[in-house]
Amino acid sequence: MTVSAETLAAFRAEIGDIPCHDDPKYVALKSRDYFWYSPILNAQLDGLSGQLVVQPRTEAEVITVAAAIARHAIPLTIRGGGTGNYGQCVPLEGGVILEMTKLDRIHAVTPGRVVCDAGVRVEKVEEAAAATGQMLGMFPSTKRQATMAGFVAGGSGGIGSLRHGMLRDGSNIGWIRVVTVEPTPQVIDLRGADILTVQHAYGTNGIIVALDYALVPATDWTHAVALFDGYDRALRFAMAAQDGGLDCYLLTVVDRRFSRFYKRLEGYFPPDGDAVFSMVAPDAMADFTALVAAHGGRISLAQNLHALEAAQLPAAWECGWNHTTLQALKHEPGVWTYLQVAYPQPFDPALVMAQMARYGDEIYMHHEMARMGGAVQIFALPLLRWTSRERTYEVIAEMEARDGCAIYDPHVVTIEDGGMKQIDSAQIDFKRRADPYGLMNPGKTRGWTADMARKAL
Ligand SMILES: Cc1cc2nc3c(=O)[nH]c(=O)nc-3n(C[C@H](O)[C@H](O)[C@H](O)COP(=O)(O)OP(=O)(O)OC[C@H]3O[C@@H](n4cnc5c(N)ncnc54)[C@H](O)[C@@H]3O)c2cc1C
Repeated sequence: MTVSAETLAAFRAEIGDIPCHDDPKYVALKSRDYFWYSPILNAQLDGLSGQLVVQPRTEAEVITVAAAIARHAIPLTIRGGGTGNYGQCVPLEGGVILEMTKLDRIHAVTPGRVVCDAGVRVEKVEEAAAATGQMLGMFPSTKRQATMAGFVAGGSGGIGSLRHGMLRDGSNIGWIRVVTVEPTPQVIDLRGADILTVQHAYGTNGIIVALDYALVPATDWTHAVALFDGYDRALRFAMAAQDGGLDCYLLTVVDRRFSRFYKRLEGYFPPDGDAVFSMVAPDAMADFTALVAAHGGRISLAQNLHALEAAQLPAAWECGWNHTTLQALKHEPGVWTYLQVAYPQPFDPALVMAQMARYGDEIYMHHEMARMGGAVQIFALPLLRWTSRERTYEVIAEMEARDGCAIYDPHVVTIEDGGMKQIDSAQIDFKRRADPYGLMNPGKTRGWTADMARKAL
């Protein structure tokens, strides 16, 4: 389904001088994200495009656009930095792409909190926080490109989740301001549990225009690489560091076979050691070093960010979360894809070793230490050698049925088939209020069916 030229012209006339682009090449570029991590999504989404990119600069302009979208019943896909992995900001039915990156003011930085516009890049907020001796409680490894609202609406957690849990936990998000898509849009502030109605909703139920986010006192983290003789040793070390409350911000465990992708770390991550990439508080380095030794490991690199940058070495966060996958895809495109795996509790490294033995060269392991709802949660983002859709789902089924793992399927476009597993009725209830005509990111939630939409004007 695409929108007629007449309808788009009428829409443009209504939004006045709000920046608008219809050059097909530009629009096509703004219709993509990192879905190509998945050959399955690539086959499904490559070539899909919106018809117009609109770039509001203020909340008032967002309201003007939202009203015109509703009046003309145009499909609307919101875009931040476009770094999502699941085609979250790929328009499935054409229409308007609402690019939020010009709505980028930071309103206030106070002790423990930042209030900012939706489209500000995460790194810019980080810089403003640093000027007050603070840092973000958690950030995605894509912070240079990703926006604050894109992280909130499309992400789940990231660097810092080891200490502060996932985005949905505690007061990581203080409040969110949303504009509804209807002829007379409302502005709604969501607080407490209501935040979860739009967090990780892929922009299907309201346009986030501003938010309040957690800051923590800045630490001059030591970025360390520790090497171990065996993936289980590396895992056990990371578990001991987390269980023992060692003051770390990141603990990423990476299979030695990744070393050929980490060219910039040549010598620091050799092919004969499994690595733990960490961000460690300087005060905790002595304990960290002792724990590494106790697990039979050695530290090959330990420097702060300033020294790393001077030596042109990557920060630890560029070696973790989905940046790990990116390293492989850069060097061996088409060879790899990936999975997202949660393990049964209590986590047992023996299960990981059994999986490694079972899959051999088909899977390279990578684990992230995190917290979820206050409890330790260990995720894997393993590389999977790409062969076919059938084989991918065979491996997923085996890990779920045989190993008791839960797979957050990164090869699907809907919220439910990916992370959530089930329809979140609170998100759908809020969609009835914030997107009553069902125009937002159509096709991305199974919880919404055409019969739920209010009749267009
Ligand atoms: C190399 C790599 C590493 C990554 N690491 C992480 C990680 O550590 N943690 C993590 O959680 N994710 C990670 N991701 C996924 C992604 O980068 C994050 O989710 C990121 O924060 C998304 O921000 P963005 O601005 O690029 O959002 P986009 O990709 O532009 O959008 C994401 C979703 O949010 C919606 N959206 C955007 N802005 C708004 C708004 N104002 N209102 C309502 N909805 C909106 C979009 O419609 C879309 O559905 C990674 C991806 C890559 C490629």
